[in-house]
Amino acid sequence: MQFRARERSPSTRGRTGTLRLAGRDIETPAFMPVGTRASVKTLSSWDLEESGARIVLANTYHLYLRPGQETIRRLGGLHRFMDWSGAILTDSGGYQVFSLAELRAVLPDGVRFRSHLDGSEHFFTPELSMEVQHALGSDVAMAFDICTPYPCARDEARRQMERTSAWAERSRARFRELSDGRAALFGIVQGGVHPDLRSESAARLVSIGFEGYALGGLAVGEPAPVRWEMVERGDADLPEERPRYLMGVGQPEDILEAVHRGCDLFDCVLPTRGARHGTVYTLAGRFSIKARIHAEDPGPLDPDCDCRVCGRCSRAYLRHLFQVGEPLGPRLVSHHNVRTYLRLMEKIRAALREGRYDAFRRRTRDALLGTEPPAPAAPETPKEG
Ligand SMILES: [Zn+2]
Repeated sequence: MQFRARERSPSTRGRTGTLRLAGRDIETPAFMPVGTRASVKTLSSWDLEESGARIVLANTYHLYLRPGQETIRRLGGLHRFMDWSGAILTDSGGYQVFSLAELRAVLPDGVRFRSHLDGSEHFFTPELSMEVQHALGSDVAMAFDICTPYPCARDEARRQMERTSAWAERSRARFRELSDGRAALFGIVQGGVHPDLRSESAARLVSIGFEGYALGGLAVGEPAPVRWEMVERGDADLPEERPRYLMGVGQPEDILEAVHRGCDLFDCVLPTRGARHGTVYTLAGRFSIKARIHAEDPGPLDPDCDCRVCGRCSRAYLRHLFQVGEPLGPRLVSHHNVRTYLRLMEKIRAALREGRYDAFRRRTRDALLGTEPPAPAAPETPKEG
């Protein structure tokens, strides 16, 4: 993996860059649609290509349980399995083990848990996480971590940060043994919302040495000012020449703020989860296609959008699909929403390159806000992300 970050302009910490992964160039800041179980829900690989996606995220925990990493390895790896020619980042499995599985015990060596599917017992270690991600053929693997919840008392946040640091070292060692030099490994900064713990976490990771760094344990319910303080702390603590990935963020207006604070990579389930609830994202805000007002509207979801759905389908038709429960409705809105996120990233990169990011950020944020609230936060079964 190579990463080349360009200089920042004086009015923002935002930057453009190029991430070279296994022969593919990804322009940053970049958004990764979430393909939880080797599928960005309802979208085919050609839909994703058409939308301009260059990298997707897949979930180690889900693919370990079904169909199993060895099955995917025997079928040629995850790229071939899901027919995806772009890059793939896999998470470590830690987040799902702690949020989805029935947790049995967090031990110095790893985590014992019961599958949320059939109750079977499993033991995940940093070494096993690296082995699963390697078997999947991931381009960017994540170190096995404990995602500190919010709120979390200082002593507990420290314990989890220290364990995450120890597991990062073991992840690095096992990754090195497995690696053919093709894939990259990112470390994950934890420490809850305690600035000194986060700085200590970052320093420990940097001393181990990773190809990139993620800011973890954020977007888990903390107030926005606290989140941005932690992101700014991460920006100050992490090396300029490595990509920074802000995990699980978020709404388009949050991505604008995170880019402004030096983040390069993003993932979020919102464009597809929102689509399943009928929430349409545009760069002028979001709305529900299920609303009565669209019943006889012949216009597109978003007149400014260049996606196939906006080119060919009316709001009236899309609303009808939701009214009668046709699965095509969520699929078409997912296609549009993912394209909207990727168009936002294209505009962000252009504004950064042209030295007008701060004005772009303010104007776009104002356009995005003042509309309907986001899609329900309650996850469906099975949960994404
Ligand atoms: Zn569209």
